[in-house]
Amino acid sequence: MSVMRGEDTIAIIGGGIAGFALALGLHRRGIDCHVYEVAPEIRPLGVGITMLPHAMRELAALGLNDAVAAAGVKNIESAFFNRFGQLIYKEERGLAAGYPFPEVGIHRGTLHRILLDTAVKALGHERVLLNRRCTGVTQDSAGVTVHFQETATGRAAEDVRASVALACDGVNSTIRRQFYPDEELVFEGINTWRGVSQWKPILGGHTYMRIGSIKTGKIVIYPIVDQYDTDGNQLVNWTTEAPQMGRPKKRLEQTGEDRGCSVHL
Ligand SMILES: Cc1cc2nc3c(=O)[nH]c(=O)nc-3n(C[C@H](O)[C@H](O)[C@H](O)COP(=O)(O)OP(=O)(O)OC[C@H]3O[C@@H](n4cnc5c(N)ncnc54)[C@H](O)[C@@H]3O)c2cc1C
Repeated sequence: MSVMRGEDTIAIIGGGIAGFALALGLHRRGIDCHVYEVAPEIRPLGVGITMLPHAMRELAALGLNDAVAAAGVKNIESAFFNRFGQLIYKEERGLAAGYPFPEVGIHRGTLHRILLDTAVKALGHERVLLNRRCTGVTQDSAGVTVHFQETATGRAAEDVRASVALACDGVNSTIRRQFYPDEELVFEGINTWRGVSQWKPILGGHTYMRIGSIKTGKIVIYPIVDQYDTDGNQLVNWTTEAPQMGRPKKRLEQTGEDRGCSVHL
């Protein structure tokens, strides 16, 4: 098996939110890096994700906070309701709460696309490699050899040499499993269903809402795109959570899908 590249670059395993943000941070500091992502193509997957002010501060350091805020919806407040829809408590959020950066609800695919496009522009296409499933790393005194399969074919792909390998391969991290083989993810017994709806702004269209409790069933609702259509509707993210009754905690197993967060129960 031939080996590519040398010890003057950093190998980032996983082209998700953390992988591309890290790549941009390294690039800004003049540190060479390559990103290796298991997915053969990047698609706008997921639904809503909320960027709190400390995350927006990090995006600001990459020059991306304005683009992310413009593509999402700034939350002004967070409100808690009981399962009958009666208000329990609310508080201001983001800029309204005095933080220097806003709290932003955004489609995860849009956030990912902003990071990907910026990374490809900054690093160059040749430093963002898709269709590379990392299968493990071998460390020696000079650096690290990273092993890959081609996702599409399952065939072994070229090994890669780097000074350091940084694992950004998500919740089912292959690298983490290599170093901590006895660690287990445990299903806590809560099922989640997520989706988006085109809907008129609720409570003015800048509120993060939690309704109900995990004991009786809960839904989290927040807008992620403003002016989604010509009728002034927003794209509204919703996430329902309900406990699964009568099942013991069980280890989560990977599906083998190209999604860092996919699990089989
Ligand atoms: C497809 C997808 C959809 C998601 N949707 C949502 C959502 O709607 N709302 C929400 O709040 N959070 C969502 N998440 C989770 C959220 O993106 C992350 O929890 C969070 O952003 C942390 O980012 P991360 O970069 O650590 O992980 P992730 O964003 O999960 O990124 C990990 C990346 O590593 C890649 N990867 C995994 N294994 C390997 C391997 N062996 N070799 C190479 N690459 C590998 C994955 O394909 C993925 O691109 C989603 C994650 C994914 C992967």
